[in-house]
Amino acid sequence: MRTLIKLSLVILVAVIVPSGTLRAQSILRDAETERFLYDLTNPLFEAAGIERNSVKIGLIYSKSINAFVAGGQHMFVHSGLFTAADNLGELQGVLAHETGHIAGGHYSRTKDAYESAGMISILSMVLGAAAIAAGGGDAGIGMIMAGQSVAQGNVLAYSRTQEAVTDQAGASYMEAIGVSGLGLISFFEKLRNQEILAQVRQDPYVRSHPLNRQRILALQKVVHASPYVNTPLDPRLSETFNRLKAKLRGYLDHPTVTLRNFPLSDTSISARYARVYAYHKALEWDLALLEADALIAAEPNNPYFHEIKGQILFENGRVDDSIDVFQGAVRLAPHEPLILTAFGQALVSQEDRAKMARAMPVLKQATRLDRSNTFAWFNLAKAYSWLDMQAEASLATAERYYSGGNASQALMHSQRAMANFNTGSPEWLRAQDIAILARAAVDKQKKRSSRRRVSDTPHSLNIMKIQ
Ligand SMILES: [Zn+2]
Repeated sequence: MRTLIKLSLVILVAVIVPSGTLRAQSILRDAETERFLYDLTNPLFEAAGIERNSVKIGLIYSKSINAFVAGGQHMFVHSGLFTAADNLGELQGVLAHETGHIAGGHYSRTKDAYESAGMISILSMVLGAAAIAAGGGDAGIGMIMAGQSVAQGNVLAYSRTQEAVTDQAGASYMEAIGVSGLGLISFFEKLRNQEILAQVRQDPYVRSHPLNRQRILALQKVVHASPYVNTPLDPRLSETFNRLKAKLRGYLDHPTVTLRNFPLSDTSISARYARVYAYHKALEWDLALLEADALIAAEPNNPYFHEIKGQILFENGRVDDSIDVFQGAVRLAPHEPLILTAFGQALVSQEDRAKMARAMPVLKQATRLDRSNTFAWFNLAKAYSWLDMQAEASLATAERYYSGGNASQALMHSQRAMANFNTGSPEWLRAQDIAILARAAVDKQKKRSSRRRVSDTPHSLNIMKIQ
């Protein structure tokens, strides 16, 4: 399971594409990046009349530029979009545009067993498949299908009218929060140049829905009419954007490329951030630790710097040291489920009863904050098991499969939990809820699989790409 959360980023998903070949697809999970994306989108959601935090955001590892909404409640951002944005304003602009599609209800209602059962979210299916592909070998076909559709960024092109309306909506949200919309224009122009230059190498964002000149002109009109057109970008968010971009590049690029782009003479936080990952990739643990320590010295209260140091120590086999560092990170950020999960993982990995007892409340908190984290559920179940709390272990395992989309396993473990808890207790009731939903999903799957033999449709999810 060690490979599951690498340096606090990335989980691998194996995806079966229609041709039958296997292709790897990654979901990047990073507490700091996710926090930042929520910080950017929440004000936009509010401006659009969407409840804060009601849309889940996932970062997908792909060099292509893309962003799309799935089911109206999930927004996926490709790492390529992040790294292609030259400044905060460009990323913010694209997120504002996407928010416009959600607010406009621009997603189709297609049939999907899980969605109609209301059982699990697409994001958790993807993450569930990720966890399972990396460690468990118990992936259900439903998850693979979901991962596949998400990986393909299954496209339903928007109409020209929808795009025009969404451009205006996005610009109005930017104005409502006092942010200049120039970033969106410069990003669209960049994409438009790409469209003109290289038809074959176009990113999916452009390919499915060409940007026309008229559209950019209309956008320019409304952006330049805003009183905030020349308002400078928020310096704090800009700094975070630069750091996260460097972090992502350090994680994704070859170490030699990173060290060329961020030479040792550059002692900025961003450069050190990139180098931590470069050294980590190059297995230069001592150098990676030196950079992590320099980051902590610069900002002792930054939980993400402690998190990175903990991860380096953990992956280098220095688990005891990592536990102390993770504890410090959790103290600074007690509500970050991914940091809690990393701390819990380090404790559980030692297979020691006392450490299991320490891990239990940590992982309980992690799963309370992020119920779709199958990896945290897995470790929590292990801790319960060590502490001879079998009923709780069964329920945690049921939760793990439930959020991972494996209905038959969720059903089995929830029934086991029900048999071991007192009837009517809160735990028993929760197990019953899972059992009911899982059984419905199993039945639906059976019906679907018999239908599938007649006409197999790989594009079964209602995923909509945003242009
Ligand atoms: Zn669009």
